[in-house]
Amino acid sequence: MRKPMIAGNWKMHLNSSEASQLAAAIKNGLDPQLKHEVLIAPSFTNIESVRKEISSSPILLSAQNMCWEEKGAFTGEISPIQLKDAGCDYVIIGHSERRKIFSESDEVLNKKVKSALKNALKVIFCIGETLEERENQRTYKVLQTQLNGGLKDISVNELSNIVIAYEPVWAIGTGKTATPQQAQDAHIFVRKEIERMLGAQASQSVRILYGGSVKAENIDELMAQPDIDGALVGGESLKADKFLRVIHYQPVLSK
Ligand code: PEP
Repeated sequence: MRKPMIAGNWKMHLNSSEASQLAAAIKNGLDPQLKHEVLIAPSFTNIESVRKEISSSPILLSAQNMCWEEKGAFTGEISPIQLKDAGCDYVIIGHSERRKIFSESDEVLNKKVKSALKNALKVIFCIGETLEERENQRTYKVLQTQLNGGLKDISVNELSNIVIAYEPVWAIGTGKTATPQQAQDAHIFVRKEIERMLGAQASQSVRILYGGSVKAENIDELMAQPDIDGALVGGESLKADKFLRVIHYQPVLSK
């Protein structure tokens, strides 16, 4: 059984008091019986205020990026050791905004994934195709390249500390969600590729989140898909009431 995860990526939003207020509202609104995982990823400067707010709750803390190096002359970067020390459980690696705006290659992302795991940080590893790639029938090729490159030389054991997030770039922040079937089809492909890379057991146990304009209104249908194990949520995770509705999704039977 794969434990579902709902993760909120707050991107470059909120000051420290806004971040701790939002974290408190999410914490206070959680169903105490909730069985799945909830994670929030604030900006670096808000990690400490959010950590204090959620320390007595089951909410997991994540960073949004990190450097692959552990220490040294890397002005402006943050190391996995520093993130671990700051109380992070997870780090998001390979978000499409990092790939596109900051030109992070599969090779760089692979170094980051390995460095995070070495330093006992779990990883949310993001992959996804652009609209142009989808329209040119290259979706699966792109996903395959990103998985093979980013997870190169990762063992089955290490994969147990990685959550994959399938985020079609055309759906991020655009209000266009992949249909539940489009998401399910991509997740099946990702699972098959993981099977080819690391075997059937790894493929059945790896969690695959969907991301891209997930909202209170569409989470139930998405979570009804058998290979969608949770969601990585951007904009909707900045509104406590909406994010709480996403967290407390009620999967509907797909038609
Ligand atoms: C994201 O930031 O990973 C994301 C999917 O954003 P949004 O939910 O706003 O599309």
